[in-house]
Amino acid sequence: MSSFFVLVALKGLAFELKTEKGTYYALHLGGTYFRILRVHLGGERSYLDVQDVERHPIPSHLMNSTSEVLFNFLAFSLERFIEKEGDGSSSQGVKRELAFTFSFPVKHSSISSGVLIKWTKGFEISEMVGRDIAECLQVALNTRGLDMHVAALVNDTVGALSLGYYHDPDTVVAVVFGTGSNACYLERTDAIIKSQGLLTTSGSMVVNMEWGNFWSSHLPRTSYDIDLDAESSNSNDMGFEKMIAGMYLGDIVRRVILRMSQESDIFGPSSSLLSEPYVLRTNLVSAMHEDDTPELQEVARILKDLGVSEVPLKVRKLVVKVCDVVTRRAGRLAAAGIAGILKKIGRDGSGGITSGRSRSETQMQRRTVVAVEGGLYMNYTMFREYMEEALVEILGEEVSQYVVVKAMEDGSSIGSALLVASSQ
Ligand code: ADP
Ligand code: MG
Repeated sequence: MSSFFVLVALKGLAFELKTEKGTYYALHLGGTYFRILRVHLGGERSYLDVQDVERHPIPSHLMNSTSEVLFNFLAFSLERFIEKEGDGSSSQGVKRELAFTFSFPVKHSSISSGVLIKWTKGFEISEMVGRDIAECLQVALNTRGLDMHVAALVNDTVGALSLGYYHDPDTVVAVVFGTGSNACYLERTDAIIKSQGLLTTSGSMVVNMEWGNFWSSHLPRTSYDIDLDAESSNSNDMGFEKMIAGMYLGDIVRRVILRMSQESDIFGPSSSLLSEPYVLRTNLVSAMHEDDTPELQEVARILKDLGVSEVPLKVRKLVVKVCDVVTRRAGRLAAAGIAGILKKIGRDGSGGITSGRSRSETQMQRRTVVAVEGGLYMNYTMFREYMEEALVEILGEEVSQYVVVKAMEDGSSIGSALLVASSQ
């Protein structure tokens, strides 16, 4: 895994959560959904009240519209969210502080500003690349006359790490498996080459790995992966993400079934629907994979919707097997990524691979919490099980006892609001 860390995009963020009070908001732009939420923090560390959460699919036309259309839509959604509030949610005359959780690669210039490096996950608004994302949102909020301040621009993994850390200070890694995939972890500042010369007050920093873009010739790439990549809007990019994330697993399965239907007659007459990219979504893959009816009725129903009907039970079983192979590979690669991080920070029982890390500090295995969130992990039980099983396999039973994988529903958004609170 060593080449892994040569490829990562390092993004330092001083990381310290203090005890805060007040009401804070988060807007999260994911790959499939956007979420808006309001949290209230009491003075005590344990008091965190998530008061309102809204979750909506991102209208698909926005993904290749213009920055004006996208941000106007987000500002409009925030306006409606705030309108629902009764009196007392925010003190009169006090600006509402907002975290913008943004799950695309950004080059930060401060906690509340950063420019878009590139789009991923099917978004294509080219004029936004190189522009300050937080500023775009602030301008749209001002235009609508909303009394809201974009106080932090937060990567979703960093948000999830913040919530994990808030609940449990042993949390040092956060991973998202949703439409896309990414990870971040807490690193010693002196082990980050890119941060040399930066003035930091804290001994550790969060590294946003942007691991979706990891690539290695050792990855088990098939012709299906190669074709999927070539036909995507971001070819030659995000190779790891395209093997493990929710946006793509369904399409890998579709490509395998399509080839089987073209090269044999087991699916009967060929269906033109099956040739349609992304028509088979990953939630349908999990529904087929986890179909426990003896006749695999759910598989039959989903295949029928894809224009393939009257498929014999034997072939339906084969389709389940394809779902299994694709998801098992994804789960195991995901686990290898997590194990790679644990190895880097000396939490895999080996003592770490960072030069200069003192042996005495790393030899003793410490409790290590990995915060995980995202729709794929939360909803696809078999993906989760394969990932966790492989993590134990790689780390070994003994070290695994110290590694806790914790699900963090909405962790990225709630944690981003916490970061705003701690930056006030
Ligand atoms: P976002 O990526 O927009 O932040 P989520 O983290 O909720 O949103 O992830 C949504 C993605 O999770 C979906 O696009 C899909 O790929 C995956 N997903 C959601 N539900 C399921 C499911 N039941 N089975 C498998 N994958 C799912
Ligand atoms: Mg997300």
